[in-house]
Amino acid sequence: MSSKPTVISVIGSLNVDLVTRTPRVPVAGETLTSESFDIGFGGKGANQAVACARLSRTEKQAASGEASDVEVRMVGAVGEDQFAPDFLKSLQKDGLNTSKIQVLPGKKTGVAVIIVESQTGENRIMFCPGANYDVPVADLVDSDASVALFQLELPMDVVLHNMKVARDKGVETIINPAPAIPLPDEAYQGLGHLLVNETEAAILSGISNPTSWDEVAAVFVSRGVKNIIITLGGEGVYYQTDKLHSQSQAGKLVPARKVKVVDTTAAGDTFVGAYSVAIARWKLNASDTELDLDEVIAFANRAASMTVQKKGAQSSIPWVDEVPIA
Ligand code: ADP
Repeated sequence: MSSKPTVISVIGSLNVDLVTRTPRVPVAGETLTSESFDIGFGGKGANQAVACARLSRTEKQAASGEASDVEVRMVGAVGEDQFAPDFLKSLQKDGLNTSKIQVLPGKKTGVAVIIVESQTGENRIMFCPGANYDVPVADLVDSDASVALFQLELPMDVVLHNMKVARDKGVETIINPAPAIPLPDEAYQGLGHLLVNETEAAILSGISNPTSWDEVAAVFVSRGVKNIIITLGGEGVYYQTDKLHSQSQAGKLVPARKVKVVDTTAAGDTFVGAYSVAIARWKLNASDTELDLDEVIAFANRAASMTVQKKGAQSSIPWVDEVPIA
């Protein structure tokens, strides 16, 4: 193993969740006393970066500052406000490199104000992107990165520009296009890994009632994607590659682990994080060998199966030593 770490750059959002629980939602002009109030750190970018960090080191390693063979570099922006210092500290505690997070003067950190109606369990969310939407259209992917991981919570031009930068620099590109917005053709050309759930697959492919996942994957292959991974919740994962497709072979289905489900929040983010760690390690150790997607997906499935057994978002993402070996 090389002594230099393999670097995952996560180019994505950082949001603070302000969560209040109330028996019912107040009507216009009414003030209600809520049952509880909590502040959590999130955003798809930060959640997936935390998943990358935890799934490549133990909690003990992170606490002692011990180097891991995977460096996770979060790239994004927060505001110069009261949330930023605690947010950065929380990410550092998970072992993340936060030096590429810009603290923008005069701006506010992205915030999601969430009202949970406890009688129905329904959420109402007001999202204010704040500093996330001030991330500049600039080259944000470092040349020493093995993997660049994207979502769609930053401005589209920032994402598209940096996907191209990553490809030009030979950095492996992974995108989890959430929230799902149809992407222009340039996003798909030469894309390494497209990771979508069923809803995202339907919106992005334009096929809402597919006869088979092969039909959906064929659309993405024709647009230039190399590896297509569709997560199917408790049903597991479907994947197809451009190579299998060119040999007229069907995609493969990898079943999920059978576990007792408590809360599926952050299952997708955990899956994406684990997948990215496995790709980064492949790049570090054996990029001259054929990528074994069965192995990569099996690890991601095992990691995500731990998340669904716990309540919460970031708090339910496991550390690597909590993931069963098989
Ligand atoms: P998202 O959270 O993005 O909608 P999915 O619901 O497809 O994503 O879940 C992502 C992954 O989490 C699945 O591919 C699987 O590995 C794991 N997972 C989700 N639901 C379950 C479940 N009921 N049992 C076991 N694993 C699950």
